[in-house]
This record gives sequence, structure tokens and C-alpha cells, in this order.
Amino acid sequence: MTLPIDPAANLATLIRCPSVTPAEGGALSALEAMLAPLGFAVERPVFSEAGTPDVENLYARRSGNGPHLMFAGHTDVVPVGDEGSWTHPPFSAAVHKGEMYGRGAVDMKGGIACFVAAVARRVADGRPIRGSVSLLITGDEEGPSINGTGKLLEWATAKGERWDAAIVGEPTNPQQLGDMIKIGRRGSISGVITVHGRQGHVAYPDLADNPARGLITLAEALLSPALDAGTRDFQPSNLEITSIDIGNPATNVIPARATAAFNIRFNDTWTPETLQAEIHNRLDRASKRGKFRPDRQEPIGFDLTWRDRPSEVFLTRDDKLIEALSESIRAVTGRTPGLSTSGGTSDARFIKDHCPVVEFGLVGKTMHMVDERVALADLETLTDIYSRFLDDWFA
Ligand SMILES: [Zn+2]
Repeated sequence: MTLPIDPAANLATLIRCPSVTPAEGGALSALEAMLAPLGFAVERPVFSEAGTPDVENLYARRSGNGPHLMFAGHTDVVPVGDEGSWTHPPFSAAVHKGEMYGRGAVDMKGGIACFVAAVARRVADGRPIRGSVSLLITGDEEGPSINGTGKLLEWATAKGERWDAAIVGEPTNPQQLGDMIKIGRRGSISGVITVHGRQGHVAYPDLADNPARGLITLAEALLSPALDAGTRDFQPSNLEITSIDIGNPATNVIPARATAAFNIRFNDTWTPETLQAEIHNRLDRASKRGKFRPDRQEPIGFDLTWRDRPSEVFLTRDDKLIEALSESIRAVTGRTPGLSTSGGTSDARFIKDHCPVVEFGLVGKTMHMVDERVALADLETLTDIYSRFLDDWFA
């Protein structure tokens, strides 16, 4: 029986499964085939919800006497983009000059391949793990994230599963392996403002009410003043207007309606609720401003709708977990990783409700790009770091 001790071989197997969300693509079957000989009990629940595609997920547990560590991640990948622009086909796992090419190489089949190899090497060497290890792997991280990690956690919890800590294998390092552990993430909310005016002739503005004037006033209130100045652990919260739409082709018509969409990445100054209240207050106050509507008595007529589910901010304060991982990274790379809360949201936002969670994986430079690739040397190094972490955290 050959055990999956070689991270590059594991990764090549996974890359060759075209698992673009929501397709399983053979990736979870391949992973199950690696985990079963290592003593993992593997289950693959499929979750559904109206309006979204069904998604298959994987939960594997190797039981031992002691604390329970979860490794979390995803086997789904983003689309390849322009396939012709790839130097090597995106599902070929071609190796060239010490790098393996393929969609998912770093985000994040590579992280999974290394963690599996780390466990496999211990099993192959007959070195026991002093506790339980689980892999919680979704096929719905790059998509709507509705039939993925959140439901998988609920499903496992309902079966009685409890964890003491989790590590997510997302590519957290900006430049070099060992740069950065993520110990938290900012939250995210999105909204759309629609300003209602009255259509008319541009030469007779007093007979109309141009919603563009109102929209500019409201947009200004969103952008200024700054939401906060940042906190000890987080950069300042930031609002970006992502679209401004009127869609009026005529040069002589005042439009009836104008909309603006925005997204806020927010820090631990806020909860989604307090931030939404702040935005409502700003808009209500601004709607009475006459700056761009000097002769109007009535306030700007608008409505605000919140889009999607908000993502909450989180910060992990588990010294044992952070220290064990930092020490493993130092021991293997000689580098002291920064503890960061930067970047987008990740599935750690679901896990934080169940146990302390940190994120550490490969170098993210090429994620989601054409020619996504990973240095074979990095696969070995990350496997060593995960191995060492298995020693240190269970010790
Ligand atoms: Zn990812």
C-alpha cells in the first residue's frame, strides 16, 4: 500500500480533477482515496438550497486520544479564465523549472496536499498523533459559499463533533513561505442606494427632480468622514463605491432614478448591525442637505437595501494555537511570521463560531491568475511546517 507522503504527487492528482465550483470533478474522490489508508473515516455529505447548485463536501476524521485538531479548506477552484493564455494547460499539473502549474495549485489544493502528506509521513513512520485530526473540506468556497463550510460545520456538530482548534490552509503568504499567519479577518457588507427623482426636460429642471444630485450628496456622506482610524489588530474600515448607475442615453432628459452600490470591509470597531445603523444615519442626515438641491424643500427620496449576508469580523486570541504555528514556521523557515488580519473574507468566518482558528498555507502570488503555480520546494517546506505543527500543537 502506498501512502500519500509526497505532497507534489498528491497535488498533481488533485489538480487533474477539474473541480471548478460547484463541480466535484473527482477531487473529493481523489482525496478520500488518499485519506482512507491513513485511518480516516470519510463522509461526503451533499448540501442543497433553493436557487443554488447542490455541492458535495468531505469530512474525514482520524480518532485518537487527546485534543481534536481540524484542518479546513476547499477543493473547488475558480474558473481558468482564458485557457489559451496558460503556459501549461490548467488541469495538467505540468512541472516546469521546479514549479507545478495548475488551477488550485496554491488556492488551495496545494495546502491540502501538504497537510495530507504531513499526516501520511507520521503514519508511514509509525509516529502516533496524540489526539484526533479532522479534515473539513468543502466544494463551495469560491462560489456562493452557501452549501459549504457553514453547513458542513452544522452537520458535523449535530453528529457530536467538537474541535479544540482549526487551521485553514489558504494561501496566506504574500511573497515567501513563512511571511504571514492570518489570525482574523475583516467583515464585509454590501448595499445599494436607489435615489428616486422625477424625470423631465433638462431645460426645465424646476419641473423635474434630478436623482443624480441626490445620489452625489448621499455618496459623499458614505465616503466622508472616515469610518474609523483602524484598531490595534486591524487596518481602518473602508467603504468602496462599486458601481454608479443611471443608464440614461439622452442628453436632454433628466432621469427618474439613480443607483449606487457599495461594499464595506470593516474592522472590530463594528458589528454588521452597528455599521448598518451608522450608514442609515449618515444617509438620513445627508438626505436633508441642500448643497446640490438648493431650491428643494423635500429631502432626497431614496431607499437602501442590503445585499447578501454580511460577513462578521473575527479575531482569534488563542496563544497556544498561534504560538505553536509560529514556532513551527520559525523552526522550518527561520522566519518569524507576521500576524495579520488583512485581505478578503474566508471560510474561517464560519469556523470561528466553533473553535479558535488560524490560517496558514502557500504563497498566494498567483492565486486566481492565469498560470497559477507553486514551487515544488514550497510544497516540501509547507509539509514540514504542518508536520512540525502536528508535533507542537499536540505536545
Ligand atoms: Zn481559497
